[in-house]
Amino acid sequence: MLDQESGNTGAFLQLIPSIDSILQTETAHSIRREAGINHLTMLARHAVNSVRDELLANVPAGAEDDYSRVKLSGRVEAALNRLWSREKNLRLKRVINATGVIIHTNLGRAPLSIQARTAIAAEAAGYCALEYDLETGKRGRRGAAAESMLAELTGAESALIVNNCAAAAILVLSALGSGGEAIISRGEMVEIGGDFRIPDVMTQSGAKLVEVGTTNRTRAADYERALTENTRLLVKVHPSNYRIVGFTASPAIGELAALAHRNGVLLYEDAGSGVIADLNKFGLEAEPDIRKSIADGADVVTFSGDKLLGGPQSGLIAGKHEVVERLRRHPLYRALRANKIIYAALEATFGSFFREKQMDEIPVLRMISLTPADLETRTNRFSERLATKIVGASGLSFIIKDGNSVIGGGSAPAVQPPTKLLTLAHAELSAPNLEAALRLSDPPVITRIVDDSVVIDLRTVSEEQEPELIAALSRIGREAKRAART
Ligand SMILES: *Cc1c(COP(=O)(O)O)cnc(C)c1O
Repeated sequence: MLDQESGNTGAFLQLIPSIDSILQTETAHSIRREAGINHLTMLARHAVNSVRDELLANVPAGAEDDYSRVKLSGRVEAALNRLWSREKNLRLKRVINATGVIIHTNLGRAPLSIQARTAIAAEAAGYCALEYDLETGKRGRRGAAAESMLAELTGAESALIVNNCAAAAILVLSALGSGGEAIISRGEMVEIGGDFRIPDVMTQSGAKLVEVGTTNRTRAADYERALTENTRLLVKVHPSNYRIVGFTASPAIGELAALAHRNGVLLYEDAGSGVIADLNKFGLEAEPDIRKSIADGADVVTFSGDKLLGGPQSGLIAGKHEVVERLRRHPLYRALRANKIIYAALEATFGSFFREKQMDEIPVLRMISLTPADLETRTNRFSERLATKIVGASGLSFIIKDGNSVIGGGSAPAVQPPTKLLTLAHAELSAPNLEAALRLSDPPVITRIVDDSVVIDLRTVSEEQEPELIAALSRIGREAKRAART
């Protein structure tokens, strides 16, 4: 590797600081407090190696000044800092979601209500009466309170809670369909969010899939013709992130429930997002209403806790008592059951519905219900505050434009609530560079680029986050301006 031309590399390599000497630097001391000595030593070794590899790859002739002991030590410290900050960015980190995508799959879907956050910290984080009956001092049933609240809210006889809606679907199909046939419309053989594909889930559960109808039109008679002695279930899946429009038909839950019950089989609906608040006036009438599905006779309905309900990630199951008990007794339930953190957050989230405060307290519902006028007022006020912060030296300018927010999370893909977009420009930064600077600030600010400009949609930013957002914008603006002058 050391050929004639880079024969001086050998000498430089002697100057690379030892790991021990790096561990004595200020940089290492400050990282050590958070990372611990063993982890720090590993990072320091990587940093030293990366600088050595750079030297071996290329030392330009006449560059001796850049390779003094001090300068090399500085380079290793810089590499150590980069490794540590990259690692911290990979850990879970609170972010400001300025994208206007309400249920943002990559940003943790539903932000929890204050009530849910408080309940996690106050009731669930330490010891709690998870499986303990305080009145008798005997063993109690995990999740009993959350289950009974869920049953009451959906109008169902009974309810059960697992880790996510995918787990709920697998449990239902395995417990109720395994070894028999499950009939589903060709228009509902969908893939939801990457790797949840209805046909694969059904195969996995051991239920034989029987497809009926066509992609765009399926009638009750199609299901009826497919019924055999082995049929266990009729399955109805909400296509969620996918819409069939135009010449379409699919039977209502009531019609399918009647057909199922006339033939001694069960009707299962995977409702996905599922609504238990009245969201029709926000254009969400196409999302399945869980109370209506139960009232119309579905035997079991599954939906997500962290989509339109606005709670923690969880799989919510509501249905007939006898059916829910079969799920509870199935061995898979033990593997898929929820933990105490989920129950605490769900009880608090359901509590908001009980007190009819859901539209105020649950962030997803509050964000959906913001009107264009609300957003205009907020965006104007925000831009006035921003203007007083960035006067003169920041290079930042902005205008307010009309735009659209997104529901997200595979819910209501056709609904795009009108919003106001704070559209940013910077004298020195291109839109991608401004987007990256915001993303790499602390806390990270995640934005969208629309028509070659970075835009901020305050629909998904809480009022408490506004000062942080203003500070990030003015700091990034000033730093870029200063960097451009020097
Ligand atoms: C989102 C969705 C799922 C998966 O829910 P997770 O909570 O992400 O596991 C399953 N079925 C439908 C119809 C969905 O919309």
